[in-house]
Amino acid sequence: MAARIIDGKAVAAAVRERVAGEVAELGERGIVPGLATVLVGDDPASAVYVRMKREDCAQVGIESFHHAPGGDIAQEDLAALISELNADPRVHGILLQLPLPGQLDQDTLIPLIDRVKDVDGLTPANAGLLAQGRPEALVPCTPAGVMELLDHAGVELSGARVAVLGRSILVGKPVAALLLAADATVTHCHSRTRDLAAVCRESDVVVAAVGRPGTVTADMVREGAVVIDVGTNRTDAGLVGDVDYEPVAERASAITPVPGGVGPMTRAMLLVNTVRAARLQHGA
Ligand code: NAP
Repeated sequence: MAARIIDGKAVAAAVRERVAGEVAELGERGIVPGLATVLVGDDPASAVYVRMKREDCAQVGIESFHHAPGGDIAQEDLAALISELNADPRVHGILLQLPLPGQLDQDTLIPLIDRVKDVDGLTPANAGLLAQGRPEALVPCTPAGVMELLDHAGVELSGARVAVLGRSILVGKPVAALLLAADATVTHCHSRTRDLAAVCRESDVVVAAVGRPGTVTADMVREGAVVIDVGTNRTDAGLVGDVDYEPVAERASAITPVPGGVGPMTRAMLLVNTVRAARLQHGA
């Protein structure tokens, strides 16, 4: 069997179109969703990510407010900027681009973001709401994108056995919480998991968020399984995921490619979260 390729670019385009419609509808009610981007220092990769996020905003009619403090900014000054943005009614979402320079403590700074403006879903407040299965949680963009892809692919999650590989705060934990909330039976794996291959082989869906090429091989995937590859690894052969793509695609019923799978969804879901944040703040 050759797998159906889940086209993240196409799904992301559809999501952006949906968001543009929502932004237009909110505009008629006098609400213009706004996203503040905070880029500390001059890391070139971070600068590219932030520029792309601002271009995405412009494309759907979300206003963006850019702040680029120098890399030597003091912790209290960045904290003051976050308070300012929390208080600014034009700003519905705050994106603090990570990683931060070494003198700054992100574990102290992130919780300062007002939870209703936390469009990256990284505050303990939103993580707690998500862990409790509460629908008002703002959810990290990549896990939200994974769920959107599964929905688009028509994957029945209720009762399905799902292996989640990786337990980071950014991806693994929230994706597992979302799958559990969708009534999947989740086995949560990590670097200490014994016999990962056996867990994967028993699963209807495998979500790999490890950051190591070749983690999921064809012998680990049962015939007809759905495979979502979150991994983004730069190698001499280019950008690859965590999944041994070609041989796994021979066994799976559906699979996300890298690039072009989960990646585009992460950007699109930031727009979704910004509109959700605007709705939360306006009760709209
Ligand atoms: P991370 O913080 O490094 O976490 C990696 C996780 O993988 C850890 O929980 C680790 O377990 C687990 N792990 C390591 N080796 C393993 C193994 N052999 N078997 C099973 N689990 C193993 O990484 P992350 O931030 O979650 O990101 C994961 C990958 O997704 C990276 O490639 C990253 O670039 C990519 N990513 C992509 C997007 C996107 O938009 N496509 C967004 C975010 C991240 P322990 O906890 O035991 O150490």
